[in-house]
Order: sequence, then structure tokens, then C-alpha cells
Amino acid sequence: MKKGILIKYGEIVLKGNNRAQFENVLIKDIHIALKGMGESAIRKEQGRLYISLPEEITDEKAGEEWIREACEKLTYVFGILRICPVDVLDDDRIEFLGEKMAEYVLREFDEPHTFKVICKRANKHYPMNSMEVAAEVGAIVLDKVPSWSVNVHEPEVTLFVELRNQVYIYGKEIPGQGGLPVGTGGKCALLLSGGIDSPVAGWMMARRGIRLCAVYFHAHPYTSERAKEKVLELARIVSRYAGPIPVYVIPFTEIQLAIYEKCHHEKLTIIMRRMMMLIAEKIAEKEGADSLITGENVGQVASQTLASMYCTNAVCHMPVYRPVIAFDKQEIVEIARKIDTFETSILPYEDCCTIFVAKHPTTQPKLPDIEEDEKHLYPEVTTQIETAVRDAELYIAHPDRVRKANVSVQENESE
Ligand code: ATP
Ligand code: MG
Repeated sequence: MKKGILIKYGEIVLKGNNRAQFENVLIKDIHIALKGMGESAIRKEQGRLYISLPEEITDEKAGEEWIREACEKLTYVFGILRICPVDVLDDDRIEFLGEKMAEYVLREFDEPHTFKVICKRANKHYPMNSMEVAAEVGAIVLDKVPSWSVNVHEPEVTLFVELRNQVYIYGKEIPGQGGLPVGTGGKCALLLSGGIDSPVAGWMMARRGIRLCAVYFHAHPYTSERAKEKVLELARIVSRYAGPIPVYVIPFTEIQLAIYEKCHHEKLTIIMRRMMMLIAEKIAEKEGADSLITGENVGQVASQTLASMYCTNAVCHMPVYRPVIAFDKQEIVEIARKIDTFETSILPYEDCCTIFVAKHPTTQPKLPDIEEDEKHLYPEVTTQIETAVRDAELYIAHPDRVRKANVSVQENESE
């Protein structure tokens, strides 16, 4: 019995040329997700994708194991609505379809259930219409498996027959992530800290098809090596969904010390955040990204009042997306748990922001005051920013490992 996986994706946005482009990106993302599992072919099947097992897998048990593992990996891929392990039939006569469906039912389900049959007939040459196919297959299943009964309104199990280039039967669907395939929506630079919010923010944008690169500001020796490793680990977890993520670790100590020495302490968080934005924009440019993402959330801390974010934002030329801006903390935590970043985010290593914080940071900064105070950093800070960008360390976070990379050759590697 030939087996494979049928992929269903959202079709509302998929009109005309968009669909081919969407499918091509999704195919590429699936290949990336299944990397290391052998050469499986993925082909378009009129509104679906069909994934076949690698040729070298001939044994039935090994095939089942492969499908189980592949389905698990596919549950992370954005753009997939449902994942369906299928039996592929080499004959489309109606008695054969019915018989194979009955065998499928007996093999896949231990208990009797109510069911209905749905037929999708993309092969318009088939001699019966889809209602007739469904009725006939249903009748044969009832005949061969008398413990099952039909319920067309609220069936416990829906059995599908799909007549396409090949014939597929299945009765189980695994929910996918939804969203859009990563790579259909451009690229953003995520300001990734070790906290709870920014990994969630990155994940949310990736789910809309955005490819990510990440920027982390590291204040060695004030922040430990373990704080950096924690951020790389967060990037690794997000990369399960978002695909490989280049992570730039920016040496930020010199700039932070300069701010600490030269600026009013109640303003230092805002000024520090403005410096982060300036540097992140430079990294974004380098990476071919045209916008930034942060995990900012209105009201959470002094630097995240509307007045503070106004001042931070004013330094940016690029749009800044803040997908968790209006969430309650609990809602962000729920997503963090769901995507598995939470446990890592709450590890207690200090962030660079927590070290140089004022006792009484301003919550209502005025932009002219901030800009006035920030002047004390110039002209030196221009060179300091250039140096920080130049000396950034680059890592590429993959789902199974984080690899140190060479800044000058990163472009091919992050693909
Ligand atoms: P998070 O939980 O994401 O760390 P937070 O609630 O701790 O956020 P802040 O520390 O004020 O909030 O940071 C706000 C946002 O600024 C973060 O979500 C992140 O996008 C960015 N950011 C803060 N610190 C860093 C850092 N060290 N490196 C990179 N980005 C940072
Ligand atoms: Mg933080």
C-alpha cells in the first residue's frame, strides 16, 4: 500500500498568480522542515500539496515511522491548515475505493464511530459525481464494517476520498499552524531579548509569512555568556516555526557606559532604546529587511508608555511592528507556553536593560529633552555604533542547533 501526506492550506488569499507563489514558498519551507529525512518529492495537487515518502523507504513499518515523524515536523510549518496522512490507491473503480476505505477504517480505528464520506472530485473525467462516490463508498463501508453507522450532520469521523492525479483516502487530519508560509511576506529584524515578549512577537510576525533575522544587544561583562546563550536558545526554538534565523549579537557595553556617564539617569533607558533602534536598522539594511519588530507592550514598564515609545520611535526611519502591543501579559504568556519559549524566557539571567536602569526612570519623556540630552553622546557615538555593527557576532539558529557563522558569508547560509 502506497502512503503519503496530503497538505491542506488556507485558500481564501490564494487567487491567481498568488497561489503559485504561495505554493512554491510553502514547498520550499516544507523541504527545509523535512531536511535530513531523505529525498521526498512534494508536488502540487490542485489546491493541495502531496508529499511522497523517500524512495529508499520500502518497508511498511519504516514508512509509518517516517510519516509520523514528518507529520510532527509539519505541525510547525506556517501556511499549513491541516496535515493528512493518506493511503494512495492505484485503481479508482468505485468498488475498490469502498473496499480500501473499509480496510482503512478497520486498520486506523479501534472503536466503532459514526461517520460520513466526503468526496473531492478534481478529476473531472471520473464517471460518477462526488455525491454518488460518497454515497457508494459509504454503503460499502457500512456493509464491510457493520459496527459503524452514518451521521451526516455530526459525524465523529469524516472519511475523505479525493480523486486527483492520484486517488487518496484518509479519515484523520492533524491541525497545522495556519498563517502564511515564511518567505511570502518579506523580512524583518526582530529585537530579540531574553524576555517573554520578543520571541512571541517574532513568532507572530513569522506566522504572517515574514522571514526573521534577530538582533541581540549584549553588554559583556555586565551580562553573562549564559544570557547570550539563552537568547540563542530562544532563537533556536522560534526557528522551528520561522526557519533558520540569523542572530546578530551586538557588543553594546561601550555605548551603554557612554550613556550612563553622559546622560541624565532618568532618561537613560529611552536613550539606550533609541541607540538599539539605530543599530537594529543598520543590521536590517545589511540583511535586506525593511522593518523592525519589538516585543513592546503598552504600559508594561516605564519605557513602554506611549510617551516613551513616541521618543524611541522618533529615531527610526523604518516601520516598527509591535505585535503584542495591546495584549495582557497573561495572553503573551499563553502564546509563549504554546510555542515553547516560556521556560527558557523565565531563566533568571540578567538582560542588559536591567543593569543600567535608573531608580526613577521617566514615564513621560519629551522628545526635545531626550534629543537634547542625547547630544552629549555625539560625535563619539557615531563611530561607536559603526564599530558595534562591524564587530557583531553572527549565529544562525536552526531548529536542531545554533551555529556560529561568518558575517561576510551569511547570506547564503541563512537561506
Ligand atoms: P521582553 O520580554 O521581550 O524582553 P520586556 O518586557 O523585558 O520585553 P523591555 O526590556 O523594555 O521589555 O524591552 C522591550 C523590547 O525591546 C523587547 O521586547 C525587545 O524587542 C527589545 N529589547 C530589549 N532589550 C533588548 C536586548 N538586550 N536585545 C535586543 N532587543 C532588546
Ligand atoms: Mg526584556
